Amino acid sequence: MTVMEFRARVSPDDSPAAALRRTCARFFDAWLPAACIVCGNAHIDGLCPECENALPGRATMRCARCGLASPASQPSPAPGPAHCAACQADPPAFSATVVLGDYAPPLERLVQALKFGRDAALAPPLGRALARRLETALPDGARPDASDASGGPGALPGPIVTAIPLSVIRLAGRGFNQSLEIARALARARRLPLGHRLLARTRAGTPASTLHAGERRLALAGAFAASRPLAARTVIVVDDVMTTGATLRAAADALRAAGAAHVINCVVARTPPPDARHDRPRRPG
Ligand SMILES: [Zn+2]
Ligand SMILES: [Zn+2]
Repeated sequence: MTVMEFRARVSPDDSPAAALRRTCARFFDAWLPAACIVCGNAHIDGLCPECENALPGRATMRCARCGLASPASQPSPAPGPAHCAACQADPPAFSATVVLGDYAPPLERLVQALKFGRDAALAPPLGRALARRLETALPDGARPDASDASGGPGALPGPIVTAIPLSVIRLAGRGFNQSLEIARALARARRLPLGHRLLARTRAGTPASTLHAGERRLALAGAFAASRPLAARTVIVVDDVMTTGATLRAAADALRAAGAAHVINCVVARTPPPDARHDRPRRPG
């Protein structure tokens, strides 16, 4: 299903103007050359290697569990997974977080355009870049792979990809779930199954983004439920932006309660720690 078909399905605006817009978009999608979503290089469909390597926070040392950038003053950690103080004091139910980059330009602009400019065409390049990151960012033993599902006696069930669901109100307003579109591309690139309704919200609405981390944790406790048992599976959860981590913590709680063996987050943009932010507005997390 193409982006246009998907949009049409979830946002059935049948006015003549909407139909004309869809027709025009289809025409330009078909005839305009694909280009890098950052620099506009017309020879690249998606994200060119130069732009991908220059993403903000690309080379930053991070907590292996929550993806938080380590303070610049901190010496390089010893070999092995290094966890931040928060993850050591109160370990989340997820075991790793793969991050494409910091929530700063150009990722900030791309995520904003994807969510609020409703440009769903930005999701596939971000999902494919995240799939590449997933391949290299995790230690060998922790890397989920389609080959895990190769079958045979005693073989573990393979990993499954899902996304943080939007609230019904936001989905109705936006017409698509940006995280699910990113997850769809990631799953396709890694040849993994997509469980697009694996997580469900248990109640309407989402907590205000102005809440602090502890308040968001409380407000989001029990906010998600898994729609089916996940015995011994690894679940890859995709979200666009991770700030406090409260949403992904609540999602991982639900998946582990349903039996998931491991939960790995894949996020496009991680908000840098407060001391590294440059007076950026807080994003919901
Ligand atoms: Zn580029
Ligand atoms: Zn951490």
